[in-house]
Amino acid sequence: MSDLQSRLREIPQVSAVLEDARLADLLAGRRRGWAGRIVQDEVDRLRSRLREDAGGPADRAALHEQLVAAVRERCGRLLRPAWTRVLNATGVVIHTNLGRANLPAGAADAARTVATRYSDLEMDLVSGQRGHRGRLVEQKAALLAGAADALVVNNNAAALWLAVRYLAKGGPVVLSRGEVVAIGGSFRLHEIIAETGSALIEVGTTNRTTLADYERALVPGAVVLKVHRSNFALEGFTAETSLADLAALCARTGCPLVYDAGSGLLVSPTDLRLPAGESLLAEDVATGCDLVTCSGDKLLGGCQAGLILGRADHVAGLREHPLRRAVRVDKMTLAALDGVLTAYLEATGLPALPALAALAADPAVLQERAERLAVALAANAPQEWLVSVVADVSSVGGGSYATAGMETRLVVLDGPRAGLEACHQHLRRQDPAVVVRLNQSGLAVDPRTLAADEETLLVDAFVCAWSAAATKAKVVTRG
Ligand SMILES: *Cc1c(COP(=O)(O)O)cnc(C)c1O
Repeated sequence: MSDLQSRLREIPQVSAVLEDARLADLLAGRRRGWAGRIVQDEVDRLRSRLREDAGGPADRAALHEQLVAAVRERCGRLLRPAWTRVLNATGVVIHTNLGRANLPAGAADAARTVATRYSDLEMDLVSGQRGHRGRLVEQKAALLAGAADALVVNNNAAALWLAVRYLAKGGPVVLSRGEVVAIGGSFRLHEIIAETGSALIEVGTTNRTTLADYERALVPGAVVLKVHRSNFALEGFTAETSLADLAALCARTGCPLVYDAGSGLLVSPTDLRLPAGESLLAEDVATGCDLVTCSGDKLLGGCQAGLILGRADHVAGLREHPLRRAVRVDKMTLAALDGVLTAYLEATGLPALPALAALAADPAVLQERAERLAVALAANAPQEWLVSVVADVSSVGGGSYATAGMETRLVVLDGPRAGLEACHQHLRRQDPAVVVRLNQSGLAVDPRTLAADEETLLVDAFVCAWSAAATKAKVVTRG
């Protein structure tokens, strides 16, 4: 018998693992089905592992122990929520990997209420007839953007897809070569257009597209599309045709104009301490686009959603579109978005939204917070670590304001290289997990994206990471 075969024969039977008393709690009752599959899965994985590595003899008892531990670990993970709370110390406000914008408590509460209680989602309580609760949310969006009407869908990708599909009706879509962009991993403009059933007519060049380029390409039945360059900047020998010029051209030729505004800015950039130059959603709508689309969870500061704003007849048509249901939002989203839009309607200054507050944070306040954090961290840091406060920049994130940096203050924690790496990793494995920047000067904590009540949690997490690293170091020196 080959060495491999004798090792494979030591793999415990699935039934033997299933009978282990330490798995009894997991395998009891209705859960038996799925937990049994995990056992089978782990046995299969063990078999392929033994096949692959040419290691020494296998010991049945040790393999059994390994299996039980692996099954418990995997089952444990499945019984916990799928995600972990994160303290975002990166300073990136609209951090796509960390969930983009945070909702204000009121909007989250509203989502919770409609999620756990019945509501007049689709009933007019006065008449007792079928109604549309969503309409009021859409009215709020339309009012804020100065649009005749609005439609809420799943996200901006869905908004753009539906708007173009509806207006082009299979006719060609004219787009500048400089705006055939990719957003995130899966949103590529030419692919979205292909999925609308329209042919894409690219005009101009990567760096320069003039009004004449559009004019030459326009054919009857075409839709003109303009897309905001959210996540990159074009510099040097460039020319871009303004939305206003395109609107005039479209008015003259009778071709509809769609603008993908990306972020959905509803307050002036200067109020957010961001450089001027980005247009407000209301300005885009006022330019005379047929439809403007944007995200709900970027600079708008709300939840994942897509807004389609513009002409009342178009929006009414979109509302009746057979594919609208395929991209509609859940009641929790609608309630959360309602809370966010209401915050805009109520506001006399900056609306009370965490994302906007983080963007607009005063550098003097960030300095105070960084100093306070630095003192607390230094009091707990291992001796060989240096803690300092330095001026730096944080970024908006979420494919918004690609090149803008916001003045901030970082707490930089510098220690032995191996310690930095270990600490960085350990911070991510806690609950709440902590995500910080690791750069040339050390671990950098940006207070901009930490809520005030998260500062002590962050210090606790560092204490925990340092003590874990210290224990490990001791084990290493002893060994
Ligand atoms: C972010 C973005 C999108 C995608 O928006 P989602 O809401 O994430 O689907 C589309 N277009 C532009 C210009 C964007 O910036």
